Amino acid sequence: MSIRDITLMGHPALMTPAAPVDDPLSEATTSLIEDMFDTMFAIGGVGIAAPQIGVSQRVIICLMRERKFSQPPERDDFTVFINPTLTPVDTEMVEGWEGCLSLPGMQGKVPRYKQIQYTATATDGSTLSGRAVGFPAVVLQHEADHLDGILYPMRMTDMSTLQYHDPVRRLTGRASMATSMEQEIDNELAQATDDDNREQEPPLS
Ligand SMILES: [Zn+2]
Repeated sequence: MSIRDITLMGHPALMTPAAPVDDPLSEATTSLIEDMFDTMFAIGGVGIAAPQIGVSQRVIICLMRERKFSQPPERDDFTVFINPTLTPVDTEMVEGWEGCLSLPGMQGKVPRYKQIQYTATATDGSTLSGRAVGFPAVVLQHEADHLDGILYPMRMTDMSTLQYHDPVRRLTGRASMATSMEQEIDNELAQATDDDNREQEPPLS
């Protein structure tokens, strides 16, 4: 099994609908899933979709518990969904910051359904179904979108929130803090992060 390169926005696999998996138990599917896990863990993601490693097949992996910084997720915290179908439970939406492995360094506020019903095939060929609420519901929607050629900016309703997540880069145009960082930029940074009241880095998936 191996760590694969992540495809970036503009790659054909990310911009077109993926094909259904014919045989969830095949060696090719099992090997694809192992590579997805290896790649996702190597980069610290909370989810990944097969098109993100260049494979146009309907397979996603999602963190199915709330994200806790004090407790890095383990493999058992993730679920593999083959040929998933999502249905919103109702019309209630929540908006939160999202990042994507395929748009490195960027984040934006994305509206998502708060609760969704899912059905999929599990890695053992059985049917997987249930309801996700909150963070896992967001990850599921983000990953399932990858199977339909949709990236999170295409779901955004306020494009002014699309930005670099690193406030130093955002405010100074530099990728890292300069040696003679001015106090006023410091203050601006403190305010920017306070105002937004956000986590340091959005979940990457
Ligand atoms: Zn993504």
